[in-house]
Amino acid sequence: MNAHSQPTPASNFPLPITDKEGLRSALAEANLPTLLMVYTTYAQDRAYLESFAPYMTGIYTAEAPSNVPEDMAQDLRDRLFALLTSPTPPVERPIDPELLRTMMSVSVGEEVDPAIMPVLYDQMGFERPVPRKDIPGRIPPPAGFRVLVIGGGMTGIAAGIKLGEAGYDYTIIEKNPDLGGTWYENRYPGVGVDTPSHFYSYSFELNPDWSSYHPKGPEIQNYLTGVAEKYGIRDHVQFQTMVVAARWDDAQSNWHVTLRDVKTGAERVEVANAVLLAHGVLNRWSFPNIPGLDSFKGPKMHTAGWDPDMDLTGKRVAVIGTGASAAQLAPAIAGKVSSLVIFQRSKHWVLNNPDIAVPVNENIHFALRHIPHYKEWFRFRVYWFTGDGLYGNVKMDADWPNKDVSISAQNDAARNYALHYIHNKLAGRPDLIEKIVPDYPIFGKRIVLDADGGWLDTLLRPNVTLETDHIDHIEEDAIVTKSGKRYEVDVIALATGFELAPALGPLKVYGRGGCDLAAAWGKDEARSYLGVMAPAYPNFFMTLGPNSAPNHAAGVNMVLEAQIHYIIEALDKVVAAGGKAIEPTEQAYLDWNVKVEDQMKQMIWSHPKAKSYYLNSKGRNYVSCPFKLADYWSWTRNPDPEAMVIS
Ligand code: NAP
Repeated sequence: MNAHSQPTPASNFPLPITDKEGLRSALAEANLPTLLMVYTTYAQDRAYLESFAPYMTGIYTAEAPSNVPEDMAQDLRDRLFALLTSPTPPVERPIDPELLRTMMSVSVGEEVDPAIMPVLYDQMGFERPVPRKDIPGRIPPPAGFRVLVIGGGMTGIAAGIKLGEAGYDYTIIEKNPDLGGTWYENRYPGVGVDTPSHFYSYSFELNPDWSSYHPKGPEIQNYLTGVAEKYGIRDHVQFQTMVVAARWDDAQSNWHVTLRDVKTGAERVEVANAVLLAHGVLNRWSFPNIPGLDSFKGPKMHTAGWDPDMDLTGKRVAVIGTGASAAQLAPAIAGKVSSLVIFQRSKHWVLNNPDIAVPVNENIHFALRHIPHYKEWFRFRVYWFTGDGLYGNVKMDADWPNKDVSISAQNDAARNYALHYIHNKLAGRPDLIEKIVPDYPIFGKRIVLDADGGWLDTLLRPNVTLETDHIDHIEEDAIVTKSGKRYEVDVIALATGFELAPALGPLKVYGRGGCDLAAAWGKDEARSYLGVMAPAYPNFFMTLGPNSAPNHAAGVNMVLEAQIHYIIEALDKVVAAGGKAIEPTEQAYLDWNVKVEDQMKQMIWSHPKAKSYYLNSKGRNYVSCPFKLADYWSWTRNPDPEAMVIS
């Protein structure tokens, strides 16, 4: 158990549950492995728990029917009903770690490493973190110790909350007129999240009310701004302000940060003790360098810069790109446009995720809202199946034969699952199958997640064309391919993704002695210590920095929380030592990079056929974290004193 945490009080879930009809209906539909975890939390009956183990499969969908025989399932529901409606509510006792480990393993139908247990406590919402400023014996930051947070998206909001709870004076600098970052900016039709929100959300603000397992963009934006509201974050935000440069002052040991008013262009300098970079990895739009694009007379919009008032009814539309954004946009507009031509440069694996279009029904909502620990155990399940449970897909098995097509048994199974889906959906269209199926192993680059009525169904529509002939140039009213095909279009949608290099974007960061971080990194050679810090840049903290993006699966929420925790631990170390600044040693930085590169050799992104935006111009992956989320989380609990210099 985390020393900074206390168990979630049972009073959060008033028992007994008096809406017996509601409970009966909820139990009938709720996820059975999750109900078993709730029951075991109270009953702690190991034999009963283990009697279910043979029927638990490792197959995940949120509402998958279980393989548990109906008499056993009903017995579990009856026991829970009795327990939760008993006039004498059940008493919760601490769970023995060995039983807890068995619970985790039974709940997901496979052996779970005991090392995951601390993650379970911290990230699944079982415990309520005590605000840092209330931890007995902790030395509070000196008055006026100020942290400047760059960016008010999902990371910046969480950083503000946690810095505030730790007693740090903080200001968030946000270039937009509102918070939300990606979810504020991305308003293209169909925008949503293809990783499940019961995990993709803050561990300290679990939301039992998600309307679907993969909500649309506006709902996520509402969640983020709602959380910001609850914690009073807005009062700390300077909106419509850009950070242009940050310069470390060696003499004063603080950062002089140049800010620009987005509306007037006026610049000013503010001073901060620390800078926390939360400007988002996928925030700087990538515009294709296609000859003639500027000459196109009609509207052309990047997906992240969509005009929500644009009416596409009856228009001839082109979409350039076939990544996750295009795969959400195209199905949302195909029914209203007169024609849609989609330009594919290279192939993306398409994997079926049947939950994408599934709403959370009222019975499940009841379970999430009223059954104690249901939403936490459900979150664990989602974390496992869409997070670290997928790690075997991206780590090469040295003994795996025929590495040309797959890299491990799990990766091969995922490939077959994807192929089965693609062949089923596109049966009778060998031309489309030929265009779609990649030759590199699945997970080699970001996969497209799809469900009924989505991307592949859209490609089958009579008014939709998937064009794989590369674009040669664009004219004022048309796109022309290399082989001379000319598509006259009214609107061009640029689903062409984001610029990851240079990693700082236009921001200039000057550390000790004026050293220039962007120059040190060059165009695309960003490196760091733990994805968070770099030597010679004291009190400069990155989030989702080099090699810390969780590209094997969902989990950006977990990485950003881990990094914020680590950053505040580091600041607390400075305060406790009576110092002013912290930075990693050169040796720690070098060692970390060796560790990353050694691990990267075993990862799918090093496969000779895998090409993606994770790789720099020399083929080095400078984006992805090659480790399990749980391992990365454990390394970011506390700065290693050997690796740090406090000055
Ligand atoms: P993306 O994955 O980078 O895809 C960009 C697409 O545009 C690719 O198909 C790319 O082709 C193509 N492209 C780029 N430049 C081109 C050019 N000059 N000519 C022709 N085609 C070009 O971008 P995205 O779809 O916006 O997604 C970016 C990231 O955002 C994703 O990886 C994901 O992490 C995140 N995202 C998440 C969700 C979600 O639901 N969670 C939704 C949307 C986006 P190549 O493949 O050949 O490079």
